[in-house]
Amino acid sequence: MSEVADVGSAESEVAALLRRLIRLDTTNPPGNETLAAELLRDYLEAAGVECHLYARVPERANLVARIPGRGSGPSLAMLSHTDVVLADASEWERDPFGGEFAGSEIWGRGALDMKGEVAASAVALATLAREGWRGDGDLIFIAAADEEVGAGFGLEWLVEAHPDAVRADFSVNEGAGDRVELGGKVLYLCATAEKMSSPFELRVRGRSGHGAMPSIADNALVKAAPLIERLGAFETEPQLIPEVEGFLAALFGEVPPAADALARAREVAPLAGELIEPLLWMTVAPTMAHASDKRNIIPALCSVTVDTRILPGQTPEEAEATIRAWLGEGDYELVNTERFGGTRSPISGPLWDAVRSFVESEEPGAAAAPICVAGFTDSHWMREAFGTVAYGFFPSRDMDSETAARLIHSANERVPVSDLELGLRWLRHAAQVVCG
Ligand SMILES: [Zn+2]
Repeated sequence: MSEVADVGSAESEVAALLRRLIRLDTTNPPGNETLAAELLRDYLEAAGVECHLYARVPERANLVARIPGRGSGPSLAMLSHTDVVLADASEWERDPFGGEFAGSEIWGRGALDMKGEVAASAVALATLAREGWRGDGDLIFIAAADEEVGAGFGLEWLVEAHPDAVRADFSVNEGAGDRVELGGKVLYLCATAEKMSSPFELRVRGRSGHGAMPSIADNALVKAAPLIERLGAFETEPQLIPEVEGFLAALFGEVPPAADALARAREVAPLAGELIEPLLWMTVAPTMAHASDKRNIIPALCSVTVDTRILPGQTPEEAEATIRAWLGEGDYELVNTERFGGTRSPISGPLWDAVRSFVESEEPGAAAAPICVAGFTDSHWMREAFGTVAYGFFPSRDMDSETAARLIHSANERVPVSDLELGLRWLRHAAQVVCG
């Protein structure tokens, strides 16, 4: 494939840029992402790329860089975030802000989540600009602040305050890219959707009284117990969302019926079962409870927080009806307290074609497979604000997905340079395929 071009000396460039980014402490809170935004601006401007910093407060800048298109073709945004989570140096074998190069890996907080992709995106832009490349549509790089806390300084704020700076037809971000081997079949996972967080509060009322005379009170905590137990055993019928259908089709070459999907996936590999299990239905987990504040007062109210994740396309109202049907009639209230995420993008079109052609050219015999993520990323802001086709895809091959999952937000986070280079090839490929 000519699009997957040899990037030559850019390969060491991405490693060098990542090491410099890791050495800037952008732990959120407080963030201080302006440190990273200025480094990226200086690096990109040297390559002739137009850059702007947008900041709600001076120390928390977002960087937006752009290679303007020649025409009005589709635009692609490479999305990333420059903040990182806290690192406790006493748990680490190396300085979390040292950016050390050891063996074939670069160590430090953010190596995986996600300064590695920040560096790869910046190098993709810089190398394309130096080569004189211009697409038909705009190629945009957004290095946002404040993803890890989400206090309104990052992409959430940008789409509201500076929509023209960040609007894009397509976007790529973190969220997936894992290479998994399932029963001899190699799949690269691409996150095209996310579940919705839709927690409920279960309230059970009784009558307060003195703890020494329980028989004349009506203990709300005790009344809640059977309902909590029932929630712990929650079950519902499996259903196949398009993302799981696509995954199963890539794995089996056909889509089994919903009722057999989990057993069939587990037969192939336990990991295949783990991947689709939370995507077959809404999940329900009681996680917090509150009753009396005093040891000797019998509570009149017991409230239980029920963490609930629903499928993209499902509504909190449908979820409420399902939970009520499971609990049955009774003396309780069930209140939806939040709805967040739950967006999806189609599994087709130029960005999907770019993912597929990249996987096939990098590893003949491997296939791209869509997946819905149980958590959420900044991609949902783009889908909600602009209807952007937003995928989470930054491929990794040399570090397996279980190892990466253990290191993210934990000690000894590190990334193989070979995976950074793979990611860089992907981003260059995506730009050239999508922007035309
Ligand atoms: Zn992240």
